[in-house]
Amino acid sequence: MLNIQNYINGTFQDPIKDNWIDNYNPSNGEVYGQIPNSHIEDVEQAYQGAKSAFKLWSKTTLEERSRILIKISELLEENLQRFAEAESKDNGKPVSLAKSIDIPRAASNFRFFGNAITQFASESHESVGQSAINYTLRQPIGVVGCISPWNLPLYLFTWKIAPALAAGNCVVAKPSEVTPMTAFLLGEICNEAGLPKGVLNIVHGLGTSTGQAIVEHPDIKAISFTGGTATGAHIAKVAAPMFKKLSLELGGKNPNIIFADCDYDDMLNTTVRSSFANQGQICLCGSRIFVEKSIYDKFKTDFVNKIKALNVGHPSNADTNIGALVSKPHLEKVKAYINIAQGENGTILCGGNEVTVHGYENGYYLEPTVIEVPTDECRVNQEEIFGPVVTIMPFESEEDVLKMANKVKYGLSATLWTNNLNRTMRMSNQLQAGIVWVNTWMMRDLRTPFGGVKASGVGREGGFEALRFFTEPKNVCIKY
Ligand code: NAD
Repeated sequence: MLNIQNYINGTFQDPIKDNWIDNYNPSNGEVYGQIPNSHIEDVEQAYQGAKSAFKLWSKTTLEERSRILIKISELLEENLQRFAEAESKDNGKPVSLAKSIDIPRAASNFRFFGNAITQFASESHESVGQSAINYTLRQPIGVVGCISPWNLPLYLFTWKIAPALAAGNCVVAKPSEVTPMTAFLLGEICNEAGLPKGVLNIVHGLGTSTGQAIVEHPDIKAISFTGGTATGAHIAKVAAPMFKKLSLELGGKNPNIIFADCDYDDMLNTTVRSSFANQGQICLCGSRIFVEKSIYDKFKTDFVNKIKALNVGHPSNADTNIGALVSKPHLEKVKAYINIAQGENGTILCGGNEVTVHGYENGYYLEPTVIEVPTDECRVNQEEIFGPVVTIMPFESEEDVLKMANKVKYGLSATLWTNNLNRTMRMSNQLQAGIVWVNTWMMRDLRTPFGGVKASGVGREGGFEALRFFTEPKNVCIKY
């Protein structure tokens, strides 16, 4: 058994009320440890630690903050294998994926914001004819709350923490209770890197107790949240009357639009990835595939053949393409959507069944599933499933597909496959999404704004947008 502790004021400690939650290994369905179910008292202690640390940290030079964040990044890289294995065990994702994407990206987050803060600048405005100069101070907010989901555990946790710390804030953070392990390990690394105690506090527990206590805390002045749309709406309701600064990165139901004039092989290989990477549990996955009618039959055959060849298996096998889903309740939710699709006259072209992996019979494995849908309005085409399930359907014209792409409540990302420049420009201007990828998917440059429109969120993170979120602008006007 591997018990996790809260990281408060630089030390590891049990939850004050001694309440614990089981931590499951999705690859075999077994409990392999316990995590604190922290309550308001633990969050208060974390807040007090952060508050005391803020006085010094907010005055620490940019060079020093930068040096510590880059040191954390280096230590994550040195511990790549250990972190990748821990992430995989907690989440069910292939170790190879955690090793090539999740952990390197978490390290990049610290390195990127460690560097970015040294380049962050604010504006000044000469008020011509009034003998005055205005400048903008960008001051750290104070103690901020960061709450993250289970699908890319350390990657998204650090995506918030790194800019918050770089900007001079102190943090009370909560990873998902479903995947707490690498956030726990991060505490050790922060101590080793010399992060002063109390600057980062990591409190574990359920959303409804620990998460809620962070959001409700009267002196935690900003909340950066990534997770489901319903949770985001609830958090907004709690935080708005307290006038907290909010950044909400929420769900998605992203279109993948394929025109006949695309580079077919590149499109096909990338579409396999954009459909099923991380078991389809990435908010950016292209879960609604629209294909131009003239290549629809060919695409359907080629795509299904490729998907049938994917290996569903134990996350630590080198040849596994699809690991385990994150939890039993999530597996049940995804299976329920496959039933809903059948009830809506969807045709299962491949997949649809649970997989028994020899030696790990109680793990949460599901075949990658492709469903041909008769209309874009069916539930499986409108609601976020967040698993290894994609829908496909043909389209006749650019106008039709644009309408269907935009006719969902979400607006996180969209992918477009075409070599027609004018169409690229027309479509990318009109797609209702925070991110549009053309002839690629999930190519990320950390300087770019990241986030969604409509029910996919409010605000942007990434690059200077994140540093703007985690600072309070103050206008100073000097008359001379
Ligand atoms: P979730 O909303 O259930 O939980 C996310 C986090 O919020 C967890 O840490 C949880 O404990 C906490 N939480 C739950 N209730 C809370 C409350 N009342 N107060 C405060 N915190 C609370 O989401 P999930 O199931 O962990 O993650 C999957 C969702 O995340 C999907 O909808 C996915 O699209 C979304 N997601 C979005 C992005 C993005 O960048 N837009 C990225 C990854 C995942």
